[in-house]
Amino acid sequence: MAYSYEAPVSQSLFDRASVVTPGGVNSPVRAFRAVGGTPRFMVSGAGPYLTDADGREYVDLVCSWGPMILGHSHPEVIAAVQEAVSRGTSFGTPGEGEVALAEEIVARIEPVEQVRLVSSGTEATMSAIRLARGFTGRAKVVKFAGCYHGHVDALLAAAGSGVATFGLPDTPGVTGATAGDTVVLPYNDLDAVRAAFAAHPGEIACVITEASPGNMGVVPPADGFNAGLKELCAANGALYISDEVMTGFRTSKAGWYGVDGVRPDLMTFGKVMGGGFPAAAFGGRADVMAHLAPAGPVYQAGTLSGNPVATAAGLAQLRLLDDAAYARIDAVSAELRSLVGDALGKEGVAHTVSAASNMFSVFFTDQPVRDYEDAKKQDVFRFTAFFHSMLEQGVYLPPSAFESWFVSTAHDERAIERIAAALPAAARAASEATA
Ligand code: PLP
Repeated sequence: MAYSYEAPVSQSLFDRASVVTPGGVNSPVRAFRAVGGTPRFMVSGAGPYLTDADGREYVDLVCSWGPMILGHSHPEVIAAVQEAVSRGTSFGTPGEGEVALAEEIVARIEPVEQVRLVSSGTEATMSAIRLARGFTGRAKVVKFAGCYHGHVDALLAAAGSGVATFGLPDTPGVTGATAGDTVVLPYNDLDAVRAAFAAHPGEIACVITEASPGNMGVVPPADGFNAGLKELCAANGALYISDEVMTGFRTSKAGWYGVDGVRPDLMTFGKVMGGGFPAAAFGGRADVMAHLAPAGPVYQAGTLSGNPVATAAGLAQLRLLDDAAYARIDAVSAELRSLVGDALGKEGVAHTVSAASNMFSVFFTDQPVRDYEDAKKQDVFRFTAFFHSMLEQGVYLPPSAFESWFVSTAHDERAIERIAAALPAAARAASEATA
């Protein structure tokens, strides 16, 4: 595909980056490999806008993949960070900020009786799984194809579908032995989970699921799916781990738990709770958390865990996320979903706008999407054309057809109008695209 616009400064930065960093990026999806073209190097963000190194401004619908729920450079978050930084950046001792952040999480999310802070969502899910294995004395982990839980070795197995398929590692470097304890099942399929428990009696430590998946595009749990998982786990002595790294503090004040009320044994958080800094967490039942060092035998630690600047940013952000903020985010999301659906409908482009609370994505198919196999059947080439048209017109979408779009409280009418103005041409580009 040829691009009619250029980004010379970003391109020269990318060229430099590619010499010193594999693929030129520090996290693969940033490289635009799924859509082609030059990744934009951003230099600043304000409210709903990002400005790239070529001086071009974009309405941001990625929001740093979720964390920037108040938009960029929110003055109160910046002030909290500046205040914290002025007192020092890391002490390697306990501090009040981490207590306050833990208290805020425990107060918002009722099943979280105790919480441990870490620095990334990957660390949170890795630690939660270790704890589940340590608590139950069992080895096997059930995950669902299309759910992403960070780059934890045992969770980078998504190959295979069907009942009780042993996971095959998705990547070199993950040994068969590591992935062999991972059972990968199709999402939204309780029969498959039932069959897995029957096939591995007394062996499954936990079932981990995205509370509402956003990493295969947005594919919400079918009615009763999460409740069914919880029930099957309880009946079989396994822990139910709800990964709320993406949904946590975004889909409601209490994340997805606030939407479906299904009570997990353990939960994981990241993104929004760090206010744009590396802060994440896992928590849940006090009797399970009591197994964690130094209270118990399951080891887990981190030099920068509970970092004072990150906790100050996260706490400032969470305290601003009141009912009015969620009402605003929900309204922005609903308006955009309807604008996108109308624009694609007018051009006759087969599509499904899929939403889970205020998270949403567009599948370029008119068939229902209930799992990863369904998601993969969409016309990805139409997304590619749509993406580049939007980018050219100053709207920054996730550079992949399999990612959630994110909005913030800062997406005001002006930002929405800019998106609305870009949609007709992007929908036309999608309709004219060829495979
Ligand atoms: N879990 C979910 C549901 C995620 O969406 C992600 C990241 O996108 C992770 C875990 C990993 O988080 P991190 O990228 O902070 O390691």
